[in-house]
Amino acid sequence: MSEKITKISNGVKIYITRMIPESGINLLKNKGYDVVINPEDKVLTKEELITALKGKNYDAVLCLLTDKIDADVFEAAGPQCKIFANYAVGFDNIDLKTAKEKGIMITNTPDVLTETVAEHTFALMLAIAHRIAESDRFTRAGKYKGWAPMLLLGDDFSSKTLGIVGLGRIGTRVAKHAKDGFDAKIIYYDIKRNEEFEKEFSAEYKKNIEDLLRKADFVSLHVPLLDSTRHFINEARLKIMKPTAYLINTSRGPVIDEQALTNALKNKTIKGAAIDVFENEPELTPGLAELENIILTPHIASATEKTRGKMSELAAENIIAALEGKTPPNLVGTK
Ligand code: NAD
Repeated sequence: MSEKITKISNGVKIYITRMIPESGINLLKNKGYDVVINPEDKVLTKEELITALKGKNYDAVLCLLTDKIDADVFEAAGPQCKIFANYAVGFDNIDLKTAKEKGIMITNTPDVLTETVAEHTFALMLAIAHRIAESDRFTRAGKYKGWAPMLLLGDDFSSKTLGIVGLGRIGTRVAKHAKDGFDAKIIYYDIKRNEEFEKEFSAEYKKNIEDLLRKADFVSLHVPLLDSTRHFINEARLKIMKPTAYLINTSRGPVIDEQALTNALKNKTIKGAAIDVFENEPELTPGLAELENIILTPHIASATEKTRGKMSELAAENIIAALEGKTPPNLVGTK
């Protein structure tokens, strides 16, 4: 239900690059800000974004992970623009170095999406192991002719070894569900070791990714996209994985070399994969979608009504704090 907007404009101007859930927009309007939203439900090209911002004197921009925010975009926004609030926890789409040089604040939306992304990770992990999408296609195609002892046999997740790559907010939540709900053995790799977590989850830290890949039955990726994590899972590392292992990715597409993954699935180097993110979104590597042993979802790991609403509110709260001269709760990179 949309809230009634009562405040009179105070001349503060906000630009939103694409329609998002109303709740955050209402927080901004209730502050008396003029909110302009890209009227088309599509990603703006860089040129369109520059045209939308240039000379308009916006005080803040609410942008999405699909917007590439670089020096030209900051330039177009102008020196009065204080903050770009990203509607995502990842912020690999933003040139943080230039933002810092220009004194522009960058914020993200952590925590509010952790549970939803962890759930989606589980949905993918169980779906690939139990061949859910493949079975659905099989049944709809009229191929189901009656129960059979050898029909579409999959794998259990319970009591298996789960390798978490990137033990941050989402990785930890996935580990909790795996341990509490499925008695999984947890191993993890991260640049930071967490001994408290190891004790609580009887988990094992692997000093390098190769040791994790050798041992894990399921590998779940939760690292941010950085220079150090681009193509983190490549041909050589896929070869190290067990031929019975599954790879799950709800982090960022370029963390996996998608051509190498396509080959590995084709050649049965690993058993299966389930991914929500792609190397060149929304394009898919040719051949990937034809494979039976992969599940593909269109970058929807945080897409529940509740979570997308919370993300909208958090992005707005970050803008409000910045414009009121306070430190936004989710300032990144410019600290
Ligand atoms: P987080 O910052 O809490 O966790 C990231 C973890 O990765 C940290 O523990 C960090 O130490 C570790 N890390 C960083 N660099 C590393 C490296 N080179 N090697 C190993 N570990 C490294 O972040 P989070 O909230 O858990 O989110 C993780 C990522 O998930 C985000 O950066 C985002 O890209 C992605 N994400 C995707 C979706 C989606 O819709 N599919 C939704 C939310 C988040």
